[in-house]
Amino acid sequence: MSGQSYDDNNIFAKILRGEIPAYRVYEDDHTVAFMDVMPQAPGHLLVVPKAPSRNMLDADPAVLSKIIQVVQKLALAAKQAFEADGVTIMQFNEAAAGQTVYHLHFHVVPRSESTPLRPHSGQMEDGDILKANAEKVRTALAG
Ligand code: AMP
Repeated sequence: MSGQSYDDNNIFAKILRGEIPAYRVYEDDHTVAFMDVMPQAPGHLLVVPKAPSRNMLDADPAVLSKIIQVVQKLALAAKQAFEADGVTIMQFNEAAAGQTVYHLHFHVVPRSESTPLRPHSGQMEDGDILKANAEKVRTALAG
């Protein structure tokens, strides 16, 4: 366990409750996925379980076993949607490890040989670009 408690007012909890908007690409009974608003590469997604936990350290193993399957599904869709050469999966646990939002999430980042990763939590992306990128992922998921 992390030793710190889950805060129901974190930004992803608010997105899950529909209190703030997100560019959603996927939802099932246990999971939501949406575009990262400060993408490290075009098509950067976040895959988030509906069940509350700060991160992997306090997560129910049953939640982890379900979400990793959705991470794979989204990684394949993002790779196809952005014609990527590869996909980087990232997941941070507590501030010392780089975590900034304290609801478990997996980063899914399509990668091209020619495009270096931009900084973590760097620059806000244009809303129209996020919207278009979300549509590309949804199309790949549907195909
Ligand atoms: P982490 O450092 O792993 O906790 O990552 C949190 C991620 O959430 C960062 O990549 C941020 O760019 C992203 N982020 C922060 N606020 C939002 C938001 N409202 N919608 C989508 N992504 C967000």
